[in-house]
Amino acid sequence: MNFSEFASLCYELEKTPSRLAKIVSAAEYLKRLEPDEIRYGVAFLSGRPFPIADPRTLDIGPGAFFEVSKIPAAENSSSIPLRLKDVADGFAKIAEASGKGSRREKFARLQELVERTDAHERPILFRLLHNELRIGLHDGLIQEAIARASGTDLKTVRRAALFLSDLAEVASVALTEGAAALQRVDITLFVPLLPMLSELSQEFDDIFKAHGGKTALEFKYDGARIQIHKDRELVRIWSRRLSEVTRSIPEIAQIARRDLQGDSFVLDGEVVAMGKDGRPFPFQELMRRFKRIHGIESAASEVPLSLHLFDCLFLDGRSLIDESYEERWSKLSAMTGGNYLARRKISSDKVEAEVFLNEALAAGHEGLMAKALNSPYMPGNRGKLWFKIKPAETVDCAIIAADRGSGRRRGWLSNYHLAVADGAGGFAPVGKTFKGLTDKEFTGMTAKLQELQLADDGYTVTVKPEIVVEVTYNEIQRSPQYSSGFALRFARITRIREDKSLAQVTSLAELRSLYERQFISKSRRNI
Ligand code: AMP
Repeated sequence: MNFSEFASLCYELEKTPSRLAKIVSAAEYLKRLEPDEIRYGVAFLSGRPFPIADPRTLDIGPGAFFEVSKIPAAENSSSIPLRLKDVADGFAKIAEASGKGSRREKFARLQELVERTDAHERPILFRLLHNELRIGLHDGLIQEAIARASGTDLKTVRRAALFLSDLAEVASVALTEGAAALQRVDITLFVPLLPMLSELSQEFDDIFKAHGGKTALEFKYDGARIQIHKDRELVRIWSRRLSEVTRSIPEIAQIARRDLQGDSFVLDGEVVAMGKDGRPFPFQELMRRFKRIHGIESAASEVPLSLHLFDCLFLDGRSLIDESYEERWSKLSAMTGGNYLARRKISSDKVEAEVFLNEALAAGHEGLMAKALNSPYMPGNRGKLWFKIKPAETVDCAIIAADRGSGRRRGWLSNYHLAVADGAGGFAPVGKTFKGLTDKEFTGMTAKLQELQLADDGYTVTVKPEIVVEVTYNEIQRSPQYSSGFALRFARITRIREDKSLAQVTSLAELRSLYERQFISKSRRNI
């Protein structure tokens, strides 16, 4: 296919607001790709110069971009049309330039590619170079286009996408080998898959209910998620974001080779940096290990790692993905000989669960995970099969408005809009809560807020910020809904802070750093 046709498709998709129309056009494009064009053809469609599982990067500096943006567009590229393959080859050549003098070499190769594009093709080439096509075609739509183009049902495409972690690969199987081949896609050694995730919960009662009265509690370690693949002597390890980290943590690869049974396996676990006192190190120390390329041996002795395995997804040639958690755990315990496992307790008792949570916290860990005993392993899934439980944190907020209650709360101002200090003399909203107050406190609070009333739209009463409350929450999330940019998850008022003035309200800057700290300690960073 010619690159100009791809460019035309991009302009068309950019203009089309309709989801279905986008899918149809993208599917037509996929059908027209030659088999050897599919991988890069799909990568381009998702705005990437290389397929996602391909570790190559272009690594072009802003100076080089600036220089090539001045090159006049080719007059008419139709005499020797630029093919998709030419662009893919051009990207490969740019990525390959490395070592001494590579900056100049990279630039020359970039220049050569840019010079071949005409005014129609150039903006699209530049967007690809910047990893951003801006045509409103996210991965979900590409999956639908793959399903449509290959005549496969969407469920099969989605499932295969979880195992292959790369839509270029999914499209390649679907379009060249067909739906049946796609259905057979399962976990494959040395192809990392997205880890299963958890939902936040506050209450053991809710967890027992969701898990049928009994659950597997595990320590939630504050480290980094890893996925270990092994086939005989070959071991490779990936991070949660599926970047390969094998070379940075050789002692973990060594454990996989030396201490674990099984010719081939895929394991899920967490590594934690350990201090000499046996307590976890701050997360930054662990990150230093992950990012380290040189001096790995000295780093290994300065920041020793401990390994906590909690799942076995593949063993001796067989996928265990669809087996129950209990069966997977029993295979994991057998193949590890009971070593390197996450601390765990099966429980159906709230008090016992709370004791176990306190034990985890006292040992410096983040909290607990609760896993449904009969659950399969669902790559990339965040749902009620796995819960995380961690202790609440506290901030002080100002109340800036309140909604009128209904039902039992009728007559009260009962849903409070919480805000932090925005640093410019105002207050920025971070959430709402009706939780935490007694009936008597609701009555008192309603009277106080009415005195502070600034406006009333019949439902929400806006008030002069004056009342400060202590609010506990379990997680801070990014939120486009609130002007602060953040929202408190499971916010509830624990105290009315009559002793505190507005000047003592948590600031937005503090909230941001709490958010970042949590981001760090939850191992969500970019590795
Ligand atoms: P979240 O990422 O917020 O869903 O929290 C789950 C994260 O906790 C996982 O991605 C792991 O990195 C980490 N974790 C620590 N211990 C465990 C465990 N026993 N089971 C599952 N995840 C764990």
